[in-house]
Amino acid sequence: MTAFQLTNDQLALRERARSIGEKSCQPLVADGEKGRVNRQVVQMLGRAGLLPKLFPMTKGDDARVAATDLCLMREGLAMVCPEAETALALQGLGTYPIVQSGSPAMVAEWVPRVAKGEVVAAFALSEPAAGSDPGSLALRAEKKGDGWVLSGTKTWISNAPSADVYTLFARTSDGDGARGITAFIVPGGTPGLTGASIEMIAPHPIGTLELTDVALSDAYRLGEVGEGFKVAMRTLDLFRPSVGAFCVGMAQRALDEAVGWAKERRAFGKAIKDFQAVSHALADAATQVRAARLLVYSAAAAYDAGQGNSKLAAMAKLFATETAQRVVDVAVQVLGARALEASHPLAHLWLEVRAPRIYEGTSEIQREVIARELFR
Ligand SMILES: Cc1cc2nc3c(=O)[nH]c(=O)nc-3n(C[C@H](O)[C@H](O)[C@H](O)COP(=O)(O)OP(=O)(O)OC[C@H]3O[C@@H](n4cnc5c(N)ncnc54)[C@H](O)[C@@H]3O)c2cc1C
Repeated sequence: MTAFQLTNDQLALRERARSIGEKSCQPLVADGEKGRVNRQVVQMLGRAGLLPKLFPMTKGDDARVAATDLCLMREGLAMVCPEAETALALQGLGTYPIVQSGSPAMVAEWVPRVAKGEVVAAFALSEPAAGSDPGSLALRAEKKGDGWVLSGTKTWISNAPSADVYTLFARTSDGDGARGITAFIVPGGTPGLTGASIEMIAPHPIGTLELTDVALSDAYRLGEVGEGFKVAMRTLDLFRPSVGAFCVGMAQRALDEAVGWAKERRAFGKAIKDFQAVSHALADAATQVRAARLLVYSAAAAYDAGQGNSKLAAMAKLFATETAQRVVDVAVQVLGARALEASHPLAHLWLEVRAPRIYEGTSEIQREVIARELFR
């Protein structure tokens, strides 16, 4: 990819993801239970080769993920099947702490099964009193003999409470803020681990986790004691641009719907595209989508070149998530009432597009990250 153009191979991967989302995943989503983990979709993403692409190390390829490939798959799936997109992303978000910071034994135990879609993963950082400020998290891990005992609550954890493996962040020392956090692997079904689903406005598998004296051997510690916050932030540096790619995919779909409709729909004796108020709104939307896409892929390409950083990732996420919300809103306006019928794809996008401005760091937190770099 140059700074301005995706290669044919990259475009083909995005198209392949779109096609798998449309032909193979959409029917499975329609048959599944809304707002719950859909294992059939996860397995399909494995069988169709998208999850293995997310974990190249399972095929003996270069151990580093291609951030650009992650974005291409997320954008392609988002255009047709946000649920499948989310399922793919969560397998990555839940597992990359293991890929980046786990021992070879941990990688061998979990990553191949996640890549096949046999095992569902989750990333458990947020707590009721620690969302934007995860350095203040309270869930405790106490050293007991050779192992650890974990107690506390997590909330808004995607794929909870049904995931098979959680990468979970716990406090191992008081008074040290972010430096007192350690990461662990907690298999689903571990005694003392319970949870409940939360219903969101857009169906999303998500819930709480309650840990009551969950005993783990030291083999479940992920990375060094006190290094858990860095484990989480390294993962987010990879995933934040790809949240932007998810939003670019949704925005592109909304734009396509609106352009198609503006050519067809007639009012006052002409197509509504011939009203400048409509055509200029769409011209602005198209320009914003392109700018968002360039920012996303330039952050991903920098990551792949070993030149990524938190500021680039934050800029991509901030701009793309905010842009998508505006573009979906413009598209709803152009389609009028039909866009608000519950079965319309735009009604679906309208609900889906809101959460990415909040998760993996709110827009305000992205601005904090960018500003910190500006004034460093
Ligand atoms: C659909 C969905 C899926 C999610 N999945 C996961 C998951 O898989 N794993 C996980 O761990 N978490 C997950 N989350 C939780 C998410 O990461 C948190 O919601 C997010 O970090 C924000 O925390 P909060 O909701 O507690 O908001 P708060 O932190 O309470 O923030 C409230 C408001 O205050 C603002 N604010 C806070 N601090 C500052 C500041 N320093 N400067 C300016 N403004 C500030 C925020 O921007 C926001 O507008 C998910 C959330 C959603 C909606």
